Amino acid sequence: MKSIPLPPAEELSAAELIALDHRHIWHPFTPMSAWFEKEDPLIITHGQDEYLYDIQGREYIDGVSSLWCNIHGHRNPELDAAVIRQTHKVAHTTLLGACNVPSIQLAHLLAEIAPAGLEKVFYSDNGSTAVEIAIKMAFQYWRNIGRKEKTTFLSMSSAYHGDTLGAVSVGYVEAFHTIYRPICFPTLQAELPILPVFSPANSSIKTIVPYLDFTKWDNMIMQLLEENAHKIAGIIVEPVIQGAGGMRMQPYGTLTRLRKLCDQYEVLLICDEVMTGFGRTGSLFACDHEHQSPDFLCLSKGLTGGYMPLGATLTNQKIFVAFCGDPNAGKTFFHGHTFTGHPLACEVARTSLALLLREDLPARAMQIGQWLSEELAPLAGHPHVGDVRITGAVAGVELVQRRTPYTPFPWQRRVGGEICQRLRAHGVLLRPLGDVIVIMPPLTTGEDNIRHIGKSLRLVLEGFSFPATN
Ligand SMILES: *Cc1c(COP(=O)(O)O)cnc(C)c1O
Repeated sequence: MKSIPLPPAEELSAAELIALDHRHIWHPFTPMSAWFEKEDPLIITHGQDEYLYDIQGREYIDGVSSLWCNIHGHRNPELDAAVIRQTHKVAHTTLLGACNVPSIQLAHLLAEIAPAGLEKVFYSDNGSTAVEIAIKMAFQYWRNIGRKEKTTFLSMSSAYHGDTLGAVSVGYVEAFHTIYRPICFPTLQAELPILPVFSPANSSIKTIVPYLDFTKWDNMIMQLLEENAHKIAGIIVEPVIQGAGGMRMQPYGTLTRLRKLCDQYEVLLICDEVMTGFGRTGSLFACDHEHQSPDFLCLSKGLTGGYMPLGATLTNQKIFVAFCGDPNAGKTFFHGHTFTGHPLACEVARTSLALLLREDLPARAMQIGQWLSEELAPLAGHPHVGDVRITGAVAGVELVQRRTPYTPFPWQRRVGGEICQRLRAHGVLLRPLGDVIVIMPPLTTGEDNIRHIGKSLRLVLEGFSFPATN
């Protein structure tokens, strides 16, 4: 038998680890040929609070919360303890025909804090599956109540709902989704109203200048629904902020309008809060800004404070009862994952939520937004900054070749990527979405570090030689 070497990671040098990474790891969303050419790939070895450390011992502020997940910083003692506590009981058991304690307690807490009426919790592993479940439930709901013609979905331009095929079907980020269209189900597409470019950077959605003229959008979406509502099962939307589509922020009032239209036209509303949930936007859920409740709420990323993979799809009693009745009537929701309701993940999620509430982190998010808007305000005058958008602790700085007429850089230039690469020398880790620089730090990040992110970005932009305008 072949002997397998198992040295602890620390014993491998950076060069050895990189060689093995290159040999074996296929990185997500990554052009791999370009990856091999990277001079200094980052190998993270540990973290503490809002900091991450690489194998050379360099310190970075985790400016994107380890892909929008981390809430309380790294190695939070209470979250660490929750994992260990549950490990000493049991790591995993199944929800198929059995219960476990943490999943029950977490569901109860989620139902308490979620928008009104969302008291049924269906667990899964990640954001994509949380969305898949909402789509399948919405589809089956109409079948179960005898409205078999309602089979399609309306989703939004620039939407991102995950990478499994159902989630890709309702996604519209051209660069990610176009290639898979032939193996997706067809959907209807609408535009969201977006805030005008050069909107004043604003940390508080409540004070965002109301979008003055919804008329055009109202007419567009009403016509779509007039013509198609009879066949639409649901509308899916990322409320308040569209994430991977470029941190595109909606004017106040959009969600209220969507909720009203859904009621009027008998269409279910699915809110994908995988990114916006758990305090990021300055309220516990983005839906709370407008006091609206969807029929489905999809959660993941921040659900465990970024500690473990866990997804949850919340729905209401109206949906749930349509799945009840004689087991032979074919109304059951036949869906589940091996790790549905994973006890370790649920225990850490419960602890994270308790901490989030105790520390009032949504208020911290507002404060972070305020600091960020102060630091980023001077960028409004930069010739290559097309827009600075801030809601709660989420900021997007959009870089453009020219402001007027509005001209993006050719994507092949990877300007956003280069800027983020340079920020590493300032001890700041950010990841762009194309040429939108995203800032989304853990909600416990201190003022000095928030300001340091903003100042560093300004410095890098000032010193950067942008591709010549032709
Ligand atoms: C990240 C994200 C998803 C997908 O979540 P995964 O855990 O990566 O599958 C879905 N919707 C939104 C809004 C997201 O930001």
